[in-house]
Amino acid sequence: MAQAKKALVKSKKQRTPRTVGGSVKKSTPHSGVRTYQNYIGGKWVDSNSGEIFENINPADTRDVVGRFPLSTRQDINDAVNAAQEAFNRWRRTPAPRRAEILFRLGEILIRQKSALAADMTREMGKVLKETGGDVQEAIDCTYYTAGEGRRLHGFTTPAEMPDKFAMCVRQPVGLCGLITPWNFPMAIPSWKLIPALVCGNTVVIKPAEDTPLSTYNLVKACEEAGIPPGVVNLVTGYGETVGAAMTTHPALRLISFTGSTETGRLVASACADRNAICSLEMGGKNVIMVMEDADVDLAVEGAVWGAFGTSGQRCTASSRIVVHKKVYKQFSKKLVERAQTLRVGNGADPRTDMGPVINSEAIEKIRGYIDIGRHEDGATLAHGGRRLTKGEYANGFFIEPTVFTDVTPDMRIAQEEIFGPVTAVIPANSLDEAIEIGNGVRYGLSASIYTQDVNRAFEAMNEMYTGIFYVNASTIGAEVHLPFGGTKATGNGHREAGTQVLDVFSEWKSIYVDYSGKLQRAQIDDVKI
Ligand code: NAD
Repeated sequence: MAQAKKALVKSKKQRTPRTVGGSVKKSTPHSGVRTYQNYIGGKWVDSNSGEIFENINPADTRDVVGRFPLSTRQDINDAVNAAQEAFNRWRRTPAPRRAEILFRLGEILIRQKSALAADMTREMGKVLKETGGDVQEAIDCTYYTAGEGRRLHGFTTPAEMPDKFAMCVRQPVGLCGLITPWNFPMAIPSWKLIPALVCGNTVVIKPAEDTPLSTYNLVKACEEAGIPPGVVNLVTGYGETVGAAMTTHPALRLISFTGSTETGRLVASACADRNAICSLEMGGKNVIMVMEDADVDLAVEGAVWGAFGTSGQRCTASSRIVVHKKVYKQFSKKLVERAQTLRVGNGADPRTDMGPVINSEAIEKIRGYIDIGRHEDGATLAHGGRRLTKGEYANGFFIEPTVFTDVTPDMRIAQEEIFGPVTAVIPANSLDEAIEIGNGVRYGLSASIYTQDVNRAFEAMNEMYTGIFYVNASTIGAEVHLPFGGTKATGNGHREAGTQVLDVFSEWKSIYVDYSGKLQRAQIDDVKI
């Protein structure tokens, strides 16, 4: 059992690198598959390794979306050097001027939105409406955060001595390493990149191996917007090599990471070794609580959207649904009926409700948890549970939307992050019990309650120890002007989005100006009143 658990913990991509012997273009003369490059110091360049990896469509693995550099530590060194060279000029560029370039970036993203969404569906799998939402989030983030170019507020405060002035200003942290996951391949890179840039930092960004194209598209748009060479550098490749090389690079003052809690721990300890700033956004096991006075149909809609949107591959996915016993049967029946109506398929087809999962390892991990739910945990498999392999599904990574009922809070399917279209319905006797179950996991990202009673809504809002909370809405659907992040194993105390993200990408400098013309000793000299 311990072995099974260990095997399920990490979903590592395994794609075969191809050596292309120096010239990338020469390697694929007849294939029609495009080969992409890293972006370092304002130039598009191959990896030092001469190797590439393939980006494959999870809805149809015969479709190779593109070939990307399988980069090395040396490529990271080159990118960091370029970021270092660009840093002083960029940090001295007035923030409102930096923001003007970012507004131009926003305009480019708006213009390209549908093409960017189509690329993203092809490499990541989620349906076009959702990839459009992903790009829109990057647009929203760009506009909102670029507005900070004319704020980046500090503060003044009285000094304790006469003829002395005190204030606080923000300064950039320096060179930032950004490491991102595949489930929001443009939104999450933008949440890091845009605030880093508006604050005056230069960056090296490494996207997830499964979805390099969307980050490539974002960086390409940065180039078109006129962001100067070296300010944004893109290096693609595997986490264990280039990701790890970033976390240990002495010149990267900050690593901003989003991904699994397991990888986050490695990132954090590498940063701790060299006293680097480290901001982590990690896993979740989010809960919807449905009270007996809830609008059950609305709660079912929220549960379906939260559990099966993005095929359950959201850090905020509704993977647990705690339901008051008085409406438990009614809710479970309706949830299963609704799950049965979902059309699984290629995300590029507008009729599709739920696309594939990301790769074969995800299939194995999710099926492993479905087995655990049925056999080890002993829950009731009320709907789904199978991999779809026939007809239109033959070449993709498709799993049925899956509902377990009669789940107890201690079961592994109620405790561990599955990151697939699987949800666990858990009965409860009261709001207090629902809150206890809701808080009874190692993560603390998002929670929600369905109730018509304002007192209960406020009680749950107060008692749930999560970074995000919803009333009469699902656990997903964050907006960029509010802080985003979680407690416990989800994060390490930082928040992205909102103005709070500025505290990640800038450091405070306290400034005292003594214009008394004499030595004044704070805490020591008496001030005559
Ligand atoms: P992952 O941890 O496998 O990979 C994330 C990134 O880290 C990738 O770019 C990967 O290449 C890199 N990486 C892997 N090993 C590394 C290492 N040793 N050193 C440095 N970098 C390394 O996660 P994933 O499978 O891409 O994403 C899914 C996970 O992300 C889920 O757990 C999900 O909950 C979490 N997530 C969290 C949030 C959030 O905001 N809290 C948002 C989205 C996803």
